[in-house]
Amino acid sequence: MASVVGHAIAAITFGTAFSKKIKNWKFWLLGIFCSIFPDADVIGFNFGVAYGSFWGHRGFTHSFLFAFIFACFITLIFYRKSIFKKKGFLYILYFFLCTVSHSLLDAMTTGGKGVAFFSPFDNARYFLPWRPIKVSPMGIESFFSEWGLKVIQSELFWIGIPCAIAIILILSLKKWILSD
Ligand SMILES: [Zn+2]
Repeated sequence: MASVVGHAIAAITFGTAFSKKIKNWKFWLLGIFCSIFPDADVIGFNFGVAYGSFWGHRGFTHSFLFAFIFACFITLIFYRKSIFKKKGFLYILYFFLCTVSHSLLDAMTTGGKGVAFFSPFDNARYFLPWRPIKVSPMGIESFFSEWGLKVIQSELFWIGIPCAIAIILILSLKKWILSD
């Protein structure tokens, strides 16, 4: 994984593009939650689930199909009244983007196995061709170490800066479009 911080930054960046009318603290929190949830699969390590298997780390919970199902599920639970309206579609889209951003960032990290983007149809693991982000350690203790520090530095550079530029672009574009 990239770290929780890196994933959350991505969720915030996507959220910026959405209308103020659908955003409140719940929207942001759920977006961040979606951006980190795929790593719930690390629980499997405690139960002997093999890394490379369907439920293994970076397996099904990191796939496009899972992201779509999870986005629908979150919208159904938290925005049930809006689900068949335009708003509902926007919520599903946002939560989908947040969940998928997790897998894309993972596929750009330097370590671990690749990501099963196309699970359950194809359980092969993939990386993106470009992998500048230093892989984050799993445990909290190992995160507060020199490794953790290097991860933060690498994420600030490779996720933080591009996301800050994206946020500025999105906000300027919105202002420009809405100013007419
Ligand atoms: Zn992950």
